[in-house]
Amino acid sequence: MDHEVIKPGKLSETCGVCGGFADDQPLAFLTCFALYALQHRGQESAGIAAGPGEGRKMWLKRGMGLVSDVFPESADLKGIVCRLAVGHVRYSYGEGGRSPENSQPLKLRYRHGELAVIHNGHLLNSGQLREELESQGAIFQTDTDSELLAHMVARQGSSDLEQALCEVVPRLKGAFAFIVTDGHKVIGLRDGYGFRPLSVASLDGGGYFMASETCAFDTIGAEFMRDIEPGEMVILDEEGMHSRQVIENPCSKLCIFEYIYFARPDSNLQGENVHLVRRELGRQLAREHPVKADIVSGVPDSSIAAASGFAEEAGLPYEMGLVKNRYIGRTFIKPTQKMRDEGVDIKLNPVKKIVEGQRVVLVDDSIVRGTTSVKLIKIMRRAGAREVHLRISAPPVKGSCYYGIDIPDAHELIAYNRPEEEIPAVTGADSVGYLSLDKTVEAVGLPAGRLCRACFSGEYPLL
Ligand code: AMP
Repeated sequence: MDHEVIKPGKLSETCGVCGGFADDQPLAFLTCFALYALQHRGQESAGIAAGPGEGRKMWLKRGMGLVSDVFPESADLKGIVCRLAVGHVRYSYGEGGRSPENSQPLKLRYRHGELAVIHNGHLLNSGQLREELESQGAIFQTDTDSELLAHMVARQGSSDLEQALCEVVPRLKGAFAFIVTDGHKVIGLRDGYGFRPLSVASLDGGGYFMASETCAFDTIGAEFMRDIEPGEMVILDEEGMHSRQVIENPCSKLCIFEYIYFARPDSNLQGENVHLVRRELGRQLAREHPVKADIVSGVPDSSIAAASGFAEEAGLPYEMGLVKNRYIGRTFIKPTQKMRDEGVDIKLNPVKKIVEGQRVVLVDDSIVRGTTSVKLIKIMRRAGAREVHLRISAPPVKGSCYYGIDIPDAHELIAYNRPEEEIPAVTGADSVGYLSLDKTVEAVGLPAGRLCRACFSGEYPLL
């Protein structure tokens, strides 16, 4: 693995992107609703660029917080005259990630007009490309790969955005789903491996819309057409939709973690519904790791489907052993040291009357550092569970992710250099069972070669 390229602590992003082109549609308003549907992909900042506005300049609003914080009066967006719009929700990690200047869309002026850029993913060679540009005098104002792409497009020289992107995109190495607009066209792009998802839909009443996940289309009444292919560029403009392949020899390696944890259950990725995949993961888990128990509970929200699949397959009752408070942000700090020490969790609360005296199968979608598992086992025992059997609907996470999913450095992972037999002792569970990689892939329903499984297998495409 090339440690020169991957700098630990570097900014990475797992975001939601969307954007469309249409005449006579309230596109900024629709984009806002699509962002609501993509909110699970990032809660740190949100933004929309729309254009061309009055005086042909693009309209832009972005800020820190949830979509509802940045666009509290979304109905006002109906008044924005535009025929194209792009929107972004952001989740970043790594050094300097959480700062307002990194919120997107990024809007810049260059010699041919304006550009607005949004992206999801992580470029492996961004350090090298930045250094190259900086040595030529480029000044960067943000840490984002969006700004890097904008600089590359501006320097390429062509006034035709499509042409400029065709020239520069093959130089990008890594995982990306970009949407770029110059006020005339909206262009969506996926890297040659298709690590991060991006699909396109037709809008009721004319026009097209792209989004990271298909759940965004349902929210705005758009009709899913197809996934954008790895290495493909889809162009939306006044002539409609057309496409060209910009990266040679593409192959599909959609991130398997999208199915396991990240995507919304009502989304379809590569034709497979996320909820149904998770239920099947649970069923396979019950077959691989059966256990004598009284009830099955899932860790809300992402593990409910897997837990219900487990319960169904095992012939055990599915019970709501844990309740999640949905109104606590990720920056929440527990009020007292005593609460922190005792592991009291204000986000997840057990239903004592359900777990008391029971042998509980607790299903979670993944163990990363192990912090959540240790805490959950304590919570269940304190609530009176007689036994707690942890079942994980994914294999052990053994390596970090270089393609945009927030997975810490390998040495922080509970399963790094640790045999599976030791995990029960470390988490405090009576038993722990992980789903095997083969069965995980089988549950997704796609050939193994079409999925990136690097965090489980250690085989990293591109490295
Ligand atoms: P950990 O506590 O570090 O073991 O993280 C595992 C828990 O976090 C599980 O309950 C997962 O549902 C959730 N999770 C898994 N992957 C991620 C991620 N990339 N970002 C945030 N949460 C995650």
